[in-house]
Amino acid sequence: MSAPAQRQPDFGTYRLDQLGFCQCRYPGALVRGEHRFCGRPTVMTDANKYGSWCDEHLPVVFTPRAVVARRKAGGA
Ligand SMILES: [Zn+2]
Repeated sequence: MSAPAQRQPDFGTYRLDQLGFCQCRYPGALVRGEHRFCGRPTVMTDANKYGSWCDEHLPVVFTPRAVVARRKAGGA
């Protein structure tokens, strides 16, 4: 019997010190006063230079200016 693998936290419950290379650092829930982070695997692309955000959170973090302007103008 080998030692059990270190248990990975569920996505959205990673502590900052548990985030590694190419893991999403989008802040999620507060657990007992501590911020928890997404932790989903990420892919490095031109738009995601450091692989800091997963596919779900990249568009949240980097909303194109045109979209922001449209939202401010009251559009959908
Ligand atoms: Zn994420």
